[in-house]
Amino acid sequence: MAQHLSNYLLKGGRLIDPAGGNDGLLDVRVRDGKIDAIGANLDADGAAVIDVQDHVVTPGLIDVHLHLMKGLGAFGVDPDIFGVGSGVTTVVDAGSAGHTLLNVFRNYVTDNAKTRVLNYINLSTLGGVSGPGYSILADPRLIDEAKIEQAVEANRDIIVGIKIMATGGALGAQGLKPLERARKLGDELKIPLLVHIGESWSKGTEPVAVGDVLKYLRASDIVTHMFTVHPGGLLDANGKLWPQVRDAKESGILMDVGHGLHNLNFDVARKVLDQGLRPDGVSTDGHRGNRAGPVYDLPTTMAKLMALGFTLNQVIEMATANAARLLGRTGELGTLKVGAPAEISVLKIEDREWQAVDSQKGAIPAHQAITPVYAIRGESIYAPLTFERP
Ligand SMILES: [Zn+2]
Repeated sequence: MAQHLSNYLLKGGRLIDPAGGNDGLLDVRVRDGKIDAIGANLDADGAAVIDVQDHVVTPGLIDVHLHLMKGLGAFGVDPDIFGVGSGVTTVVDAGSAGHTLLNVFRNYVTDNAKTRVLNYINLSTLGGVSGPGYSILADPRLIDEAKIEQAVEANRDIIVGIKIMATGGALGAQGLKPLERARKLGDELKIPLLVHIGESWSKGTEPVAVGDVLKYLRASDIVTHMFTVHPGGLLDANGKLWPQVRDAKESGILMDVGHGLHNLNFDVARKVLDQGLRPDGVSTDGHRGNRAGPVYDLPTTMAKLMALGFTLNQVIEMATANAARLLGRTGELGTLKVGAPAEISVLKIEDREWQAVDSQKGAIPAHQAITPVYAIRGESIYAPLTFERP
């Protein structure tokens, strides 16, 4: 599925790079896998011309929440399926590996992928080994600060934060203590916490209130599943945002979509958005069980946000500049810079009517679709995998 070219010119496309302040008909020329020039009507200068007329060219899209340890439990999926196979150049695993599995993750997933694969290390030693229905934080011995610190220090090039399941099911009798321990670790290691909210997997346990979770979070930490319909979400019983949620957003805590099998609900999204709270990031929460729907891929998830009222430029900003900010990689990822390695997505934007479907099978009309055309990393140009999208 890959074509290899050292020198090429992406010609005739509309470049949208919110971080770089670009939106217009701009060509991108690549030499030896690095961006050589960005500008109108560029000369090929000996490079192969790739016609991207009528397409949108963006910095490589970033999907910040997936489950990428293929073969691990029911969920693990090959990173290149949601990555370069879906027009996306960077994917981030959310907690498949605890500290004991981190080297396996690095050797087996990150090092073998065509897509850049980053990692949120799980606070629990078990990580995704037991599946999401288990109480992976309920035994205090399942958090080993010293081992987590060692793993983070040895893998700072791929670790972007610590993943925590803040649910009654995962925390069990430990209550909020694991969050307190995560807070300390995050401060010591200077990396953000990625916190799963919403009791999608918990049965018969008391839900954790989002206000209690937010007490342990700070600016740059990330709450994922912001549009969940399950207990523990951002809305109270009357559909109003919990007051702590607004305070959290104002204090710089970031909010991510995390679509997934359970956690994108359009009714919840409308209520949250109507009260003025917007997502910082868009992500699929992609895994083996949601590729064939309701999630499909990041471009489709972005198009669902457009069906909710966001513009194309806004969803591209979420999947590029904002995603880089979530990962602490502003300037390095999510923008196009002359001299930097080429990390580029090419997308087809179509005006057509389709039904966007959420995790609870709620449907809303959508008027534009986003389909990947290429994911480009350096000298490799990947066509997307063919599969049925809505
Ligand atoms: Zn997830």
